Amino acid sequence: MTFEKLGLIDPILDALSSIGYTHPTPIQAESIPILLKGHDLLACAQTGTGKTAAFAIPIIQHLVTNKSNQRKIRVLIVTPTRELAIQIGESFDDYGKYTQLKHTVIFGGVNQFSQVNDLRKGVDILIGTPGRLLDLYTQGYIKLGDLTHFVLDEADRMLDMGFIHDVKRIIKLLPAQRQSLFFSATMPDSIFALASTILSNPERVQVTPVSSTAETIQQEVYFVDQANKNDLLIHILKDRSIKSALVFTRTKHGADKVVKVLSRFGISAQAIHGNKSQNARQAALSNFKERSTRVLVATDIAARGIDIDDLAYVINFEIPNISETYVHRIGRTGRAGASGRAISFCDIEERPYLRDIQKLINIQIPVVDGHPFPSSKHVEPSSFSLASQKHLLHRSNHSKPSKSSSSFGQRVQGTDSASETSTFSKPKKKWFKRKVS
Ligand code: AMP
Repeated sequence: MTFEKLGLIDPILDALSSIGYTHPTPIQAESIPILLKGHDLLACAQTGTGKTAAFAIPIIQHLVTNKSNQRKIRVLIVTPTRELAIQIGESFDDYGKYTQLKHTVIFGGVNQFSQVNDLRKGVDILIGTPGRLLDLYTQGYIKLGDLTHFVLDEADRMLDMGFIHDVKRIIKLLPAQRQSLFFSATMPDSIFALASTILSNPERVQVTPVSSTAETIQQEVYFVDQANKNDLLIHILKDRSIKSALVFTRTKHGADKVVKVLSRFGISAQAIHGNKSQNARQAALSNFKERSTRVLVATDIAARGIDIDDLAYVINFEIPNISETYVHRIGRTGRAGASGRAISFCDIEERPYLRDIQKLINIQIPVVDGHPFPSSKHVEPSSFSLASQKHLLHRSNHSKPSKSSSSFGQRVQGTDSASETSTFSKPKKKWFKRKVS
């Protein structure tokens, strides 16, 4: 399958080839033809599958082929977080760069002045978070009477974050005649019920259910006491081959504490969470993307949907108590078919969460033992030891401990050694490993 075969117009094909997209991802190959025909869509897809382009490309094509003489909001995309809204905006910049279409992104936590200015000048596509959207609508800056396309993105997260009433209010403002697209990583009954109030006779597409983790992500768990997690993190980050890592903590306060500890050890780190101003969050994210900060420490809500090219490492400083959050977190790596490594620190108190996660993903996550900060408690027999896995011998130095080994499961001494090599191989594109059902 190629983008040409999907019947896309030249300005889009040129844009895609200029950013190096050669083949549609499974969600794109499935959704684009449905959306070009004008059907509503109910899509179960997690971030990292290429879902943004799956909805952005056909929407751009519809707007270009059905020209309007005036600039009016014809597309509304609602997404739960500011970061996600900005990223969707950037995707429209990319895919629509050879068209005359205009879009803007609105979200709370910043002055509304420039957002209102953009709205006054006129846009075809509006991308926003629910609160600011309703706020600016109430102030009269947004008119939705000419809307032809509505996208609800990350619907499950929207509900988790308590936006259900805002979403229902937004839906009431939309014209009845429209094409609606509904994206969610999970599809429990509550989400399905919400979808049925928005969609009319939708086509359904499902790509890599949330309970499955990408095959390209190498997962590991370290049993460690909570009190030793900082030391273990520093130990792991002594491996200079780890150019950047996204670290997840359960709380905002916890994220700030990790940043402080890392900074004390000369490891550049910044936090991204809901207590930070929008500017501070954006700065932290840009610094991380540009590799001027090595570690980004994030809470779940702030990190949702963050798209970082070639992110090879995700570290769960704490195990999430909601199993699906684990899948979302580690999905920050292994994106777009690239490979990645997901490391989880597990204290005795967190073992039940680990058990639930393993049940959900149907994988026994290999345990790294022999590291310098082992748990003072007994390790469950249900998990198996990395060192005991024959198949791992070829990819690590377990059989021959050496000073320059970067296998974090052993005491790493002399981490400044230039000869230190990582057990992690460079990300490779591997779209077709993903399942479409
Ligand atoms: P998304 O799931 O929309 O957040 O996309 C995840 C990542 O995949 C982003 O970095 C996209 O730029 C990238 N991507 C999306 N579609 C393609 C494609 N067809 N070929 C290569 N990369 C893609």
